[in-house]
Amino acid sequence: MRGSTIFQRVSRAFHDHPSLSKLLVVITVSGGGLVAYAEANQVNTPQITDSSEVDSKKKKVVVLGTGWAGTSFLRNLNDPSYEVQVVSPRNYFAFTPLLPSVTCGTVEARSIVEPVRNIVRKKKEDVQFFEAECIKIDAKNKKIYCRSNLNNNLNGQEEFVVDYDFLVIGIGANVNTFNTPGVMENCHFLKEVEDAQKIRRTVIDCFERASLPTVSDEEKKRILHFAVVGGGPTGVEFAAELHDFVNEDLVKLYPGVKDLVKITLLEAGGHILSMFDKRITTFAEAKFQREGIDVKTGSMVVKVSDKEISTKETKTGEISTIPYGMVLWSTGIGTRPVIKDFMAQIGQANRRALATDEWLRVEGCDNVYALGDCATINQRKVMEDISAIFTKADKDNSGTLTVKEFQEVIADICERYPQVELYLKNKQMRDIADLLKESKGDVAKESIELNIEEFKSALSQVDSQMKLLPATAQVAAQQGVYLAKCFNRMEECEKNPEGPLRFRGSGRHRFRPFRYKHLGQFAPLGGEQTAAQLPGDWVSIGHSSQWLWYSVYASKQVSWRNRALVVSDWTRRFIFGRDSSRI
Ligand code: FAD
Ligand code: MG
Repeated sequence: MRGSTIFQRVSRAFHDHPSLSKLLVVITVSGGGLVAYAEANQVNTPQITDSSEVDSKKKKVVVLGTGWAGTSFLRNLNDPSYEVQVVSPRNYFAFTPLLPSVTCGTVEARSIVEPVRNIVRKKKEDVQFFEAECIKIDAKNKKIYCRSNLNNNLNGQEEFVVDYDFLVIGIGANVNTFNTPGVMENCHFLKEVEDAQKIRRTVIDCFERASLPTVSDEEKKRILHFAVVGGGPTGVEFAAELHDFVNEDLVKLYPGVKDLVKITLLEAGGHILSMFDKRITTFAEAKFQREGIDVKTGSMVVKVSDKEISTKETKTGEISTIPYGMVLWSTGIGTRPVIKDFMAQIGQANRRALATDEWLRVEGCDNVYALGDCATINQRKVMEDISAIFTKADKDNSGTLTVKEFQEVIADICERYPQVELYLKNKQMRDIADLLKESKGDVAKESIELNIEEFKSALSQVDSQMKLLPATAQVAAQQGVYLAKCFNRMEECEKNPEGPLRFRGSGRHRFRPFRYKHLGQFAPLGGEQTAAQLPGDWVSIGHSSQWLWYSVYASKQVSWRNRALVVSDWTRRFIFGRDSSRI
């Protein structure tokens, strides 16, 4: 036995004593049964969530959603004094940036998902997961109403109520059809793993259908016309993936119809990838044109029937129709009904997403936080607080501000109102005195003294620097980390607040406000070429960025299991190509 591994020893033991393996099977099965029984019992109990009696000291945090925001919060929360309940209709986390790769089988669906129970199993906190959808939030009574989405719910009792001390909402967003007729019924979307799997099957379906002997040439052309609506990163990446799939794999398998394939990208605006640097947009448009992907900009889709798309030229207003075999609709995001309903309750009815303050607290509610695609930070304007800032800064109550007085509070101002720092940076002002000087003319720094009106005019432009954060995984994940860190230090920071001065009140804010750190953005363009836009407007396009893309996306996987699966999928694709079986 010398030198043999533990595995070899264990397998030898089972081989020599077959009863051992039977015992193990019995224990595993009965153990599983016990777990299943315990869980079934939890679901059967009418007030499953009233655990306050069990441990009255523990504060209950309810997390809605297991996407980027919710999972990142869960993974970073590490204070056992909380009791956590997670509600989501999806019992896994999905790595959405690789969804376009799933549509063509470059990576497999299971490689990019991680079960939530795997994630929470390792937590110090007491965490429970319920696979259900939140259908109503009642912030007044601190309750949420949920409905299980399992078809054969054990007890037939499908709805339940969960109460909370803190609610963290991270339920993401819906697809947005802009109420265009026929879109819901006839288009594919790419938001969920199921969507990507459905697209993969449909693409193969189209090729098989076009290969049937009964189909006319005209019909074959229609079936093999793939239209993508929306020239954002998702639409562009899908078009590129599909083009690679067709040209690297399908042309060999469907030689009879390969020349009939067409990919069209429809974009209502003037350019595709408009959120990227101009160099990337130009490169992508030229590359697609060279490769025969038809990019139609200035073309707005007004209707989709079962076989045709109607578009309207934005310049001429001319309407035309194009026959298609498959359409992917990818034009941005909308608000989920449960969020709409909640916004109406709390007086935010006319907004697109839940408004929070810079600490991610939902405006107008206590102990409710929102992050990710369902939320937007309503950045406070300097001009709204300008008098309060002036009064606070004017320590000697002289009615005027000196440079020295201003310098003492500038760090707090920049922290509370990040637009001030941005403004100074953009105007290339190194010193705050430069800003004050602007409204005072050519005066020596030391002798600048501003009254309230002059102070207002000095800062009148800073709010123009306010920007909304994009709806991306990067933002959602950073918000999750931030909020979890706040939760971990709730008590500590209550005693020793670490945030900036409260200009409208007394003392300091408990925490520093959330700050987004942009790490860059990729746009895979197919043919092993990717465009990368990194901070500081650093742009790189080509094969080298593709390798950067591979390494960043491999490193960002949430578990070693995912990492291994994704890398092995890429390797498999390099060696054997993509699989075209319609399963
Ligand atoms: P999601 O990740 O969508 O998660 C929402 C969660 O809430 C899900 O678990 C959902 O099941 C659950 N949920 C839904 N309804 C309810 C309910 N009623 N009650 C409870 N739970 C509910 N971003 C990048 O930064 N880089 C990229 O490369 C990138 N590529 C993308 C590619 C594609 C194809 C797509 C679709 C998105 C991409 N994004 C990318 C954007 C990114 O995926 C989103 O910004 C991110 O998922 C937002 O995170 P979230 O947690 O707010 O929402
Ligand atoms: Mg003064």
